[in-house]
Amino acid sequence: MLRKILIEPDPILRKKCDPLENVDTTTKKLMDDMLETMYSAPGIGLAAVQIGILKRIVVIDIAKGEEKKNPLFLVNPEIMHRSKKTSVYEEGCLSLPEQFAEIERPAECTLKYLDYNGKEKQLKADGLLATCIQHEVDHLNGILFIDYLSKLKKDMIIKKLVKKKKETERVIV
Ligand code: ZN
Repeated sequence: MLRKILIEPDPILRKKCDPLENVDTTTKKLMDDMLETMYSAPGIGLAAVQIGILKRIVVIDIAKGEEKKNPLFLVNPEIMHRSKKTSVYEEGCLSLPEQFAEIERPAECTLKYLDYNGKEKQLKADGLLATCIQHEVDHLNGILFIDYLSKLKKDMIIKKLVKKKKETERVIV
């Protein structure tokens, strides 16, 4: 089932999400919905908070266009190590439509998480995946990529989003 993605500014996107005790069928159904919503958007990552659910759940798939789908489900992801070396990617976000900015983050990270079946896993990521994981884990702590920009740039983006929200709410009869 497709879910509605929350758009900044929205106070829910600023909330800290709660860990799950285990992965049950409700969690799996939610992860299926999140993946479907992310593919349909389309995007390469989605955190549960972006559809209004304050749980520490993330779905990611960085496979491009024709490549075979390769979904990654992260429950309670915890980054245990970040490299000193950094990399820069132009980031966007499904909660900040059509807004992009270059963000510098640690180039590699190691994390532990529970997978789709609730099994404990570890993963060492680099490149785009490392950036994507850090972007999504930030969501679970109420952090958006615009928080890394200067106040001026951040305010400009928020202003544009507010304007766009008003336009979509406008009804002419
Ligand atoms: Zn995002």
